[in-house]
Amino acid sequence: MNDPNGEHSAERRQRNTLSSRRSILTGGAAAIVSTIVGSVGSVSASEHEFCPDPSTGDRSAGGPSTGDSSDSDTSDRKTLTLQPNTAYETEVFVIDAPRPGPTGVVVGGMDGNELAGIEAAYRIREQELERGTLVVLPEADAVAVEQRTYNSPRGNLNRQFPVGQPPTSSLAKELWNLITSVDPNVVIDFHSSKGIWGSDLGPDGYGQAIYPSVVGDSRQIAADTVEFMNEEYIYGAYPPAYQFTVGNTLVGDKPKLIHKVAGDLERPGYLTEVTRYNTSLDTRIEWTTAMGERLLRRHGIW
Ligand SMILES: [Zn+2]
Repeated sequence: MNDPNGEHSAERRQRNTLSSRRSILTGGAAAIVSTIVGSVGSVSASEHEFCPDPSTGDRSAGGPSTGDSSDSDTSDRKTLTLQPNTAYETEVFVIDAPRPGPTGVVVGGMDGNELAGIEAAYRIREQELERGTLVVLPEADAVAVEQRTYNSPRGNLNRQFPVGQPPTSSLAKELWNLITSVDPNVVIDFHSSKGIWGSDLGPDGYGQAIYPSVVGDSRQIAADTVEFMNEEYIYGAYPPAYQFTVGNTLVGDKPKLIHKVAGDLERPGYLTEVTRYNTSLDTRIEWTTAMGERLLRRHGIW
């Protein structure tokens, strides 16, 4: 209701882009190689990869230690599949930078109608990485994303991660196994919302905020990132209500992914929200991508 008319055509274009990209990726990855990695489904190499090592995290494969220095300045890329051969089948992109460093996990598509986070995850996945490891899951709930609905018939994926207990669906279990297997230094979960957190402008909602986990310096890093976002994108360009803020700290035993990352792994995590209120999809993608990259950089991954 509150979105300008242009939004709908933009979202329609976005749907087409996402659909075609997804099918291209599925075909390309499946054509190379497939093997089982623990409980995480299949792994396959990109066309750039000479010899995939199923024991992911082995950065020496194809790298300097093999004596082949020609690969040392490009990232090593692998693709994993969660929920293979089901309607929920979805791809995970693992990018190892030439220089070792911390590991970051980026998740989009927990809620299927929040397209900005999906596209931002794809953009981050496409960037060249210099340092660290990135694990990117753009379409977490592939059924919800396919249907462009908030949730899929299995319910809200981001309520299936109870702290101190196993995740409550097979998809949530596989996603959690993936996260624990890569032992992340930071996890970022992209969302968008109808409204703006703490503002009277527009409908109620959670947008224009970063919700940090209780762990470590997360709240300070969120504050720094919020200031960066406002200086780069908001001040002078949008009404004050659009200024990014730091949301409440994700603490306690609520069953969102970032709660579990904090509670069970005691690792930093962030849930980011942009608003759909009078913003274009392109703008929301730009903001979400910038927030994600800034947060990753603050955790030593770039
Ligand atoms: Zn959401």
